[in-house]
Amino acid sequence: MTIKYSVVVPVFNEEKVIYESYKRLKTVMDRTYEPYELLFVNDGSKDRTSEMLNYISEGDTHVKVLEFSRNFGHQIAITAGMDYATGQAIVVIDADLQDPPEMILKMIDKWGEGFDVVYGKRIERKGETFFKKMTAALFYRTLRLSTDIDIPLDTGDFRLIDRRVCNEMKRIPEKNRFMRGLVSWVGFNQTAIEYVRDERLAGETKYPLKKMLKLSIDGLTSFSYKPLKIATYSGALLSIAGFVYMIVALALRFFTSSTVPGWTSLIVIQLLFSGFTLFILGVIGEYIGRIYDETKDRPLYIVKEAKGFSSAHRVRAM
Ligand code: UDP
Ligand code: MG
Repeated sequence: MTIKYSVVVPVFNEEKVIYESYKRLKTVMDRTYEPYELLFVNDGSKDRTSEMLNYISEGDTHVKVLEFSRNFGHQIAITAGMDYATGQAIVVIDADLQDPPEMILKMIDKWGEGFDVVYGKRIERKGETFFKKMTAALFYRTLRLSTDIDIPLDTGDFRLIDRRVCNEMKRIPEKNRFMRGLVSWVGFNQTAIEYVRDERLAGETKYPLKKMLKLSIDGLTSFSYKPLKIATYSGALLSIAGFVYMIVALALRFFTSSTVPGWTSLIVIQLLFSGFTLFILGVIGEYIGRIYDETKDRPLYIVKEAKGFSSAHRVRAM
């Protein structure tokens, strides 16, 4: 039986929501009357998620589970899910029910109309902090300004992609992956459906500030050289300003009886310039670190156990 729909669900420490999430997804997918699979990727959870997934997969042949050997991160979990998925259309959805599973049916309708990618665009985000909303809004806009790739605003990883798009994405070996950008990069016929992002059903966000920062720097650096260009231009501007100030200081010294007063001006300039230099070095470092990651050529993830799969899967096209 060929699978028509694959639903990929990355999960990390979601014992409080996983069962409910499974039930909602099952209800929705049963309504398609087509063969489907629910593919949970357990991203190294430390709570009881693994046991619960075992229990769920034993009672339902639709359910497949990939167990990572440790936490590899949300974007990598999605990648693994897409590598192992066998459906003609692949849906990626969070485990915490912030993305309403019922929207999948609308995505499928759009897919039926001939679109290859149907992404969910958040028109409202419930139950998230002002800080998260603000930083997210700012990030998507900065990213859009920084790159020539048409990455839609306010769009997360909740989307349906066609088999063709999935196959193309499997050819991307990039390490620090920003999946929502890569999907745009691949191209094809893309469309949006708008939705209201609900509150998390239970538990806390698995995206602390550190992971959010990493994701946004990944997004920016993998789709834009602009930070490097800004560094060049602002460096040039600062040098010009420095040069002008030098002329002023020299003119004062040689053609008048006064000089620029000492310590304060020196320390101000010193701090400003060295701060700026260190910052630029950091920006360059971000790019170099990513080049380093690429050269190491380690596999993207390690699957400890794959449950519910009928035969051995060949996955990455590397
Ligand atoms: N997640 C994951 N690995 C991680 C962090 C998160 O697989 O290292 C999963 C998580 O279980 C959830 C999805 O990614 O299904 C999105 O995470 P979360 O809901 O915590 O992010 P938020 O909605 O707060 O941005
Ligand atoms: Mg969430």
